[in-house]
Amino acid sequence: MAIERTLSIIKPDATRRNLTGKINAKFEEAGLTIAATKRLQLTKAQAEAFYAVHSARPFFNDLVSFMISGPIVAQVLVGENAVAKNREIMGATNPANADAGTIRAEFAESIEANSVHGSDSLENAANEVAFFFAEIEIVA
Ligand code: UDP
Repeated sequence: MAIERTLSIIKPDATRRNLTGKINAKFEEAGLTIAATKRLQLTKAQAEAFYAVHSARPFFNDLVSFMISGPIVAQVLVGENAVAKNREIMGATNPANADAGTIRAEFAESIEANSVHGSDSLENAANEVAFFFAEIEIVA
């Protein structure tokens, strides 16, 4: 299996409840290395740019408002099969459908305030990592 990078975001609902450590424990227990980490307050323009792919979706404006409602923690996770592994650890978008033990099953408040973002493909991962990090900031 290939060593991959993926972009993870701990969302404002989780930073507000001081869940960063508990969420990061799940990544590390699953064998993913936190190779870069950055706590940020996104601007509206930054959140709109990051979620541009969803701009036509009915939930877009609410999602942007939520993502700027408090700090986020953007991280690069590195490891074998990191893109799919992170999606497994996260659980389904809607916490009502998330498997037991996943981050969203344990911590998400709603389908919107669902605690984490994770890249959904290797190609998107490369673009999303570059959105937040310079190469010199990523140390696996
Ligand atoms: N989202 C929402 N309502 C929906 C679907 C998604 O508010 O009906 C939000 C939610 O925060 C989700 C994000 O939009 O994580 C991106 O949606 P996507 O379908 O890409 O889900 P993900 O890849 O995050 O599981």
